[in-house]
Formats: sequence, C-alpha cells, structure tokens
Amino acid sequence: MLILFDIDGTLLRTEGAGMSAMLATAHELFPTKTFSFDGISISGRLDRLIWRDLMTRGGVEPTNEIHEVFRENYGAHLRRGFSQNSRAHALAGAQELVDALHAQSGLGLGLLTGNYEHTGRLKVEQAGFSLEPFQHNAWADDGDHRRELPPVAMQRYNEKMGRDIDTSRVIVIGDTPLDVDCAHFNGCLAIAVATGNHPIAELETHNPDLLVSGLDDWQRIASWITSR
Ligand SMILES: [Mg+2]
Repeated sequence: MLILFDIDGTLLRTEGAGMSAMLATAHELFPTKTFSFDGISISGRLDRLIWRDLMTRGGVEPTNEIHEVFRENYGAHLRRGFSQNSRAHALAGAQELVDALHAQSGLGLGLLTGNYEHTGRLKVEQAGFSLEPFQHNAWADDGDHRRELPPVAMQRYNEKMGRDIDTSRVIVIGDTPLDVDCAHFNGCLAIAVATGNHPIAELETHNPDLLVSGLDDWQRIASWITSR
C-alpha cells in the first residue's frame, strides 16, 4: 500500500509561518503594492495557485518569471522565519503514526501537499520529522489542482518499486475536503483528520473512508490501514 500524508493541518502546524513568509516575499518584490490573503482560498489548494491569486489581487500580472523569483525568495523567507521566531509543531500522534507505518513492510509512505517541494521539506524537518520515510511524494510543482497529485505520487512509487500499485491500495490522509476529493477522484481511499480548519461535522459530509478528530489515536488508525 501507499500512504500519502498532507503536511499543513495534518502532520504539523506552522501557526501562519508560510502565509507570513509569502506576504513578506510579495512585499519585498513589489514594495509599492498591497498584498493580502483576504478573500483568497488557502485550504487544500496548491501554493502556485495561492501565489497567482495573491499577485492578481495585489495588481501584479502573475508571469512565470515572477513565479520563479517568488518561489525561491519565499523559501528563503520561510527559512529565515524558522531561524528567528517561527515554529513548526508536529500534531499529536503524527510522528507515532508515521513511525508505526514506516516500520511495516509492504507500506510505502509519501507526502501529498500543496506546498512547493523546498518549503514542504523545510516545514516537515522543522517540525522534527525525518524526511527519510517519505519516498513517494507529490508537491505543488506537480500540478494545477490537488486531483492531479495522487497519480504523480503513484507514478513515482511505480518507478521506484518497479511494480504498479492499484489506486485502491493508496490512502490519502488530510485535513481538508480537497484532500478527500483528490483521493476519491482517483479511486483512492481517504482518511480525514479534523486538526486543520475544517471541523469533523464538515469533513463528514465529504464521506471520507475513515474520519478521525486527530492522529492522537494513531494505533487505531495504523490498524485500520494495515487491516485493509
Ligand atoms: Mg492541509
């Protein structure tokens, strides 16, 4: 099986460090413009689309050239924030669940996230996780919509493992309706975890295959996965 973890709101929280670093990057590049996340949907979306909305609403035409500079500078701002006052915290049970699944033979793990690769890796490390268990990843750079990411992670799994995994053997763990949607759209299973901005009652309406209030009951989640 292949288990794909969302980052923000699922494995960890950064208490707004990512958004602060994005705003700082935008203001640095365009000091005469005003940028804000007001009215921009963040939850479960890919960083490149969030960037595009931020630019457009700030009156900047979002070109590929600007995106390349923004992407790199955003990484530098985020890294600087973590070296100063920003913190990333692993959510309760997340480390234990990753460790328990990583110890199982026959299970592959990956990150499936709206973060860019460099900032996603940075957040995960800052929260105290090793990146080593996560071998089959899909990032914001890999698509325009979250629905495009599970096939990318599966393709990487297939190439690395030398065998094709069936979609029904893939589980996406995430905290937003779009995590559930990207799993089911691709024929994968979804575990929804209500540790992000979406309460359990809202997630329930999206019919995840398993719905939990958090990863703190990680033994139950690990046994649900390994009994599939
Ligand atoms: Mg999330």
